[in-house]
Amino acid sequence: MARPIKALIDVEALRRNFALSLQKTGGNCMPMVKANGYGHGTEIVCRALGNADAFGVASIEEAMAIRSFGIMVPILLLEGTFSADEILIAEKYNFWLLIENHRQKHDLIKAPIKKALNIWLGIDTGLHRLGFDPREISSVYRDLMSSKKMKRTSVLASHFASADQPDNATIALQLEIFDDAYAKIEIPPDHHVGQSIANSAAILSLPTSYRNWQRPGYMLYGNSPFSHENLHEGLQPVMHFVSAVTSIRTINPGESVGYSATWTAKRKSIIATVSAGYGDGYPRHAPNNTPVLIGGKRQPLVGRVSMDMITVDVTDDPEIQIGDMVTLWGPDLPVNEIARICSTNGYELLSGITARVPRIAINQ
Ligand SMILES: *Cc1c(COP(=O)(O)O)cnc(C)c1O
Repeated sequence: MARPIKALIDVEALRRNFALSLQKTGGNCMPMVKANGYGHGTEIVCRALGNADAFGVASIEEAMAIRSFGIMVPILLLEGTFSADEILIAEKYNFWLLIENHRQKHDLIKAPIKKALNIWLGIDTGLHRLGFDPREISSVYRDLMSSKKMKRTSVLASHFASADQPDNATIALQLEIFDDAYAKIEIPPDHHVGQSIANSAAILSLPTSYRNWQRPGYMLYGNSPFSHENLHEGLQPVMHFVSAVTSIRTINPGESVGYSATWTAKRKSIIATVSAGYGDGYPRHAPNNTPVLIGGKRQPLVGRVSMDMITVDVTDDPEIQIGDMVTLWGPDLPVNEIARICSTNGYELLSGITARVPRIAINQ
């Protein structure tokens, strides 16, 4: 038998979560599938969402991987190109480019391409990470338009800093900056500039941010994008991160478990060892008492997380046996909850699942 750790990917839940984003916004939604589909496996995710109009990724390598699965829908490179040669690949494979700085703009204008490309113009409305200054966006648009390297239909795009906190004052400010900058672009009658700003949290809480394109990411995978919630009504967690009990022993009071002996038994204790560790993406910082589910019941992790294993105190459930399934996170143990205990967010935990964990589609 193979090592029992797996990420089971509920394809039906993924489709339902995507349908919710479409239904809420009534517009186009581009699934964000960067970082191996937020750790869920790009191929499974893109096949499941094959009816999407386009996908969003972080690099041309991620985009090429999707093409290698035979999926031909357009793909937006969310950080644009990192070097000029990528523009030729984008032309060949129908990748859409975000242009967000002057280097990218000049590379496109000089690129020896035969067809105009689908261009998204990135504007910095306050996240201060990518994007043109709002004051220069109309001149950038003019330069690209006259270069004939940009299609007549393009998109102005920006990204929220704090959409996960719906009361945050920067949300309204960013929208205002976005709308003002859009209004200043001189768009010829035979051209069209669409708009895109909403991520998952905005899709679920901010109808004023709905534009031509929404960019749902985390919500597709079924957990709440809001930092104060674990689950969100209408969303279904997609990943069941599971393994099994692979060894059991009884230790005496005063004996400790794991590297550096960070947990010591106060009573005679039954310790179940589970094949899952930080080498799989289970967080090494998970402290004593982080829950796992065995037989549907919460049991406390004890001792250090090691590369390949964790140890769980199952003294109160002596019927637990080798081979019993263990859930590390899933619909009944939200990844956001584990993330909070480990001082991170679910995005990091999901995208951190490593290559050696098989992703297996279920409910196809
Ligand atoms: C990742 C990403 C998103 C999706 O954000 P979620 O919070 O996961 O919905 C949207 N837009 C851009 C530019 C991104 O990089």
